[in-house]
Amino acid sequence: MEERRRLGYLDALGVEVWIPRAPASKMATETHPAPPLAEAPAPSVSPRAAAGPIKETLVRLDDTRRSLPTDPDPSRMDWDALAQAVAVCRACPLHESRTQSVFGVGNRAAELMIIGEAPGADEDRLGEPFVGRAGQLLNRMLAAIGLPREQVYIANLLKCRPPGNRDPRPEEVRQCEGYLVRQIELIGPRLILCVGRIAAQHLLRTETSLGRLRGRWLELGETGIPLRVTYHPAYLLRSPDQKAKAWEDLVAVAQRLRAPARDPDQRAPLSSPVK
Ligand code: SF4
Repeated sequence: MEERRRLGYLDALGVEVWIPRAPASKMATETHPAPPLAEAPAPSVSPRAAAGPIKETLVRLDDTRRSLPTDPDPSRMDWDALAQAVAVCRACPLHESRTQSVFGVGNRAAELMIIGEAPGADEDRLGEPFVGRAGQLLNRMLAAIGLPREQVYIANLLKCRPPGNRDPRPEEVRQCEGYLVRQIELIGPRLILCVGRIAAQHLLRTETSLGRLRGRWLELGETGIPLRVTYHPAYLLRSPDQKAKAWEDLVAVAQRLRAPARDPDQRAPLSSPVK
């Protein structure tokens, strides 16, 4: 990637870059070394055709389904039925305090699916995930790896806002996750980027800290879909010193998207326990 453009992306992301000073003369040899920033990938991730590849990557999530509500059962719904079911869902108490449910947004044939925790106040008001300041940062993070927001699919674990942005309760996740499971099935993404501790721990069925989950490739249960964990943009807004690590995660995602699909050498062993 052209250096000026790369620096522009990093600046937009808020990642501080040290640029080595040129020596003033042959006598002045001291410079500030640049940190080892990863080379950003070229901004080209081809959109996938809707037919064919999606069927090939349809996933089995039987294990997850066992804990799902049966009414409504989203496992056979198409997109329209699923969106309608979420819009009118009253399966958990969160429907009482929501302004509206937040289904998901983006390319339904996306190669990359981004999964967060739950809607916040802005999302509850606007009906779209990852809007507001955190959403704007996510957009800049995606732009930094050459992915417009419209090219990925963005959804949350919970479709309704927990009051006061509290953590989701296990029973709420149990009631709601069937919708997300069906979204994953319908999209069949090549990769999942999971943002934030809550979503990562629920999806991976683990209590391992986010710090130990990020920085490596994992897989989503029996689906085998490669999954990367990174910090939630809202956390990055509060802790900008972690942006460099988020940048590393994004570069790893971009590099893998550019690699040939379904390369078995890139897969971690199926069902490997998360330590
Ligand atoms: S959070 Fe999920 S399960 Fe609960 S009411 Fe909203 S859509 Fe239904």
